Amino acid sequence: MAEQTRPPIVTILGHVDHGKTTLLDFIRKSSVATKEHGGITQHIGAYQVSHSGKLITFIDTPGHAAFEKMRSRGAKVADMAVLVVAIDDGIMPQTVEAIKHIQEAKVPLIVAVNKIDLAGTDKNVQLAKIKKQLSDKQVNLEEYGGDVPVLPISAKTGEGVDKLLEMILLVAEMHETKGDPALPSAGVIIESSLDKFKGPIATILVRNGTLKKGDQITVGGVNSKVRGMFDFSGKPVDSGGPSTPVEVLGLETVPVVGAVLGELAEVKEAEVVQSLVERLKQGDTKTLKVIIKADKQGSLEAIQTSLEKFNTERKIVDYIFTGTGDIGEENIKLAASVGAIVIGFNVKVAPTAQKLAENEHVLIRTYNIIYELLEDVEEVVKTLVEVGQLEEVLGKANIIAEFPHGKSEKIAGCRMTEGIIAKGQKIRVVREGQNIGETRLKSLKKVKEEVNKVEKGNDCGMLFDPSLDFQIGDVVESFRVI
Ligand code: GDP
Repeated sequence: MAEQTRPPIVTILGHVDHGKTTLLDFIRKSSVATKEHGGITQHIGAYQVSHSGKLITFIDTPGHAAFEKMRSRGAKVADMAVLVVAIDDGIMPQTVEAIKHIQEAKVPLIVAVNKIDLAGTDKNVQLAKIKKQLSDKQVNLEEYGGDVPVLPISAKTGEGVDKLLEMILLVAEMHETKGDPALPSAGVIIESSLDKFKGPIATILVRNGTLKKGDQITVGGVNSKVRGMFDFSGKPVDSGGPSTPVEVLGLETVPVVGAVLGELAEVKEAEVVQSLVERLKQGDTKTLKVIIKADKQGSLEAIQTSLEKFNTERKIVDYIFTGTGDIGEENIKLAASVGAIVIGFNVKVAPTAQKLAENEHVLIRTYNIIYELLEDVEEVVKTLVEVGQLEEVLGKANIIAEFPHGKSEKIAGCRMTEGIIAKGQKIRVVREGQNIGETRLKSLKKVKEEVNKVEKGNDCGMLFDPSLDFQIGDVVESFRVI
């Protein structure tokens, strides 16, 4: 089968309370195509409506915390974004963030100026003001020669919503959203959960190809078989073609929101794991201590609000300190003293702080996009929850020789390759990625001299207590529990 036109996938973005949910609800209620199977009560994270005989797929991300995370993904999953701006509020911080994501994702944009039923006689003045604000943010409005239409609407009364749907179809036509149902399915997880009875459930938005019942799929590096499929209204279906949202049963694990169907997923997962979890593995503690620095109070609050979702059952994310401004030495000192990680959002790390962090082995991560921050924290929290522990590797050395010592002991001749190994630290020996035992240092010698620590680049001799049956080629790691 060749490429053919597929319904546009649309995401609705904008500042909180500007009317995204109301608009999605209005469209669902007025235009949803599947009333015959009671579609409007069943709710997954996307739905399809029919307008002028053509389908449109809307991504409908529920809940504000989830929305924060999905927002930029939504823009990437989608073919087009509708930016909702309330006429009485104008451009607000999350509007600006949404514009940034849309511009980064390079998807066509339609601006819907909402709540026009509220605007009185100064409606035109307010509209003009919003247009000016949008232009200042490099949004190329149609009336100034660009390609972004601005439509006044009321999600409450429905005024202008028809025009908005027409505009969506027009923009889709201009950008030729196409798909080939004959291809193997490609899609994105837009929702996932663990059902007590049904097991892992995910909503997959099929972007191209066709997903069929019985298909073997790979999501987030995990192979699964699609055992059951439902459309957005809860009706069992056997397949879902391009632009169709489907709920899928039979997955082996609960995939992360934003995971991609197919190979891409593995790359993405690997990146996330590398970014944080790699350095935070097993330990004894059950909380993730964080210090957060952000550019503005508003960002700080948004981050904390989003992170609160991890603390619903018990306290997992423990805020040691939060504040605005760049990451400085004092933040690192505090982090080192309590075993916290430092998270920066839209801030820089002072060079002195960077240096101190390296010496003190404090982990700093900086972000410009909230969902990336949340994604990383989520990975760590998941590890915490699964393993119940966290740890950090402080130093590594290769065992390059062995020398007999006393009657039965042997000394490991080591070359330091990373960080620091010191007396008093927890030590383990790793062979081809497998931990072969934990121990402590009874003796640490540089040439003939007994020392307390050795750093990267040095050779040393280590005597373990209790002794370990190491081999040349093994790696010695020192680590601490965070
Ligand atoms: P969201 O946070 O962007 O999803 O915003 P909501 O859809 O929850 O809307 C926030 C508030 O604005 C609610 O109280 C809505 O009833 C109200 N609202 C949304 N759209 C309109 C509109 O077109 N006109 C008026 N008057 N109120 C609206």
